[in-house]
Amino acid sequence: MSRFLSEKYQKLSPYVPGEQPRDRGYIKLNTNESPFPPSEKAIRGAREAAERLMLYPDPEYKLLREAFAKDIGVKPSQVIPANGSDEILDMAFAAYCGDSPAVFPDITYGFYRVFANKRGAPFREIPLGGGFEVVPADYFAAEGTVFLANPNAPTGKLLSLKDIESVVAANTQNVVVIDEAYIDFGGESCVGLINEYENLLVTRTFSKSRSMAGARLGFGIACESLIQDLETLRRSTNPYNVNAMTAAAGICSIADREYFDSCRAEIIRARGEFTAELKNMGFSCTDSKANFVFAKHKSVGGGELYEKLRANGVLVRRFPGGRTEDHLRITIGTSETMRAVAGILKRITEETK
Ligand SMILES: *Cc1c(COP(=O)(O)O)cnc(C)c1O
Repeated sequence: MSRFLSEKYQKLSPYVPGEQPRDRGYIKLNTNESPFPPSEKAIRGAREAAERLMLYPDPEYKLLREAFAKDIGVKPSQVIPANGSDEILDMAFAAYCGDSPAVFPDITYGFYRVFANKRGAPFREIPLGGGFEVVPADYFAAEGTVFLANPNAPTGKLLSLKDIESVVAANTQNVVVIDEAYIDFGGESCVGLINEYENLLVTRTFSKSRSMAGARLGFGIACESLIQDLETLRRSTNPYNVNAMTAAAGICSIADREYFDSCRAEIIRARGEFTAELKNMGFSCTDSKANFVFAKHKSVGGGELYEKLRANGVLVRRFPGGRTEDHLRITIGTSETMRAVAGILKRITEETK
C-alpha cells in the first residue's frame, strides 16, 4: 500500500475469485462458468463489431436494451446494461446503502460484503436456516437495503416467486435487490414484479447461462425511477461501460434462443445425474437450482476432499470455516465431465474410508 491511498480504502479486503490456473489442464469446476462456448451468433456479432472498434459504443445502448427488455418482457426504459452484474451490484450499494445498512444472508455471494465495505456502508448478516435456506420472514423488517441471490450461492437454494414477493412487499421503505445470476437453471424470475413494486431491483448476468463470463455483461431491471438512479451513477463513472464487442455479442446471444435453451437444459440434466451419483456415494446435497451443487460427504472432510480433487486435476470451490467448512461447491460441466468427476470422487471417498 502506498502512503497516498485514501484512508477509506486502507482496510478494504477485495473479493477473492476462484483461481484461474494457467498451468496444467485442470477440470475447472470452481467459478460456475459454462462448459459450452458462446452462441456462434454471438461470436460472429463480436467479430463484426471488432471491425468498428475505432468508434465509441452507443452510450445509450439502445439496441442492446431493446433486445434484452423484449426477451424478458419489460420495457427498454426498465433495464440498464453493465460491465457484468457485479457493476450493477456495486452501483446499488453506492446508490442505496451507507445512510442505512445493507442486509443479506450470512452465507451468500461473498462480493456483497466487499461492496458494502468499499462504500463504507454498515451491513447486517442474517443467518440462513438449518437447511441453508433463506427464511423470508427474517427479512420482513430489514430496515436496510436487502440483497438476496435467488437461487442463493453457494447453496443453490431457490425461493419461490411468492416468497420473494413477500420480502419485497414487506420492505416498501427500502430497495430490495434480487440477484438472479442463476435464475435460468430452474428458477422462476421475479422481473414481472417490477411493474408493481417501485422498490425492487433485479440483476441478471450473461456470465453463467449465456456462456459469456469473459465478455462481462450484466443488467439491472427495475421500475424507471430506480433505473434513472443507476443511470446517473453509470453516466458519472463510464457512459461506455459495456464495450462494443460485448454489446453486439449480447444482442446476438439473445437472438439465439434455441442454443441458450439447449445449453441450460443440458446443465440441468447433468446436475440431476451428478447429484444422484453424489448421493449414492454418501454425500448430502442441497436441492440446487443453479449450475453448481453444494455437497458434503458423510465422513470425508471438506479440506481433504478439496485437496484430493485438486491432486486429481479437479478444481472446485470451498468456503472454509463455520457451517460451510465441509461443503464443496462444484460447478456443473458437461455430462461427460461430471461422470469423470463422479468417478474420481468415488475413488477418493472409498480410499479415505
Ligand atoms: C457470478 C455471480 C455474479 C456476477 O456475475 P458477473 O455478471 O460476471 O459480474 C453475481 N452474483 C452472483 C450470485 C454470482 O454468482
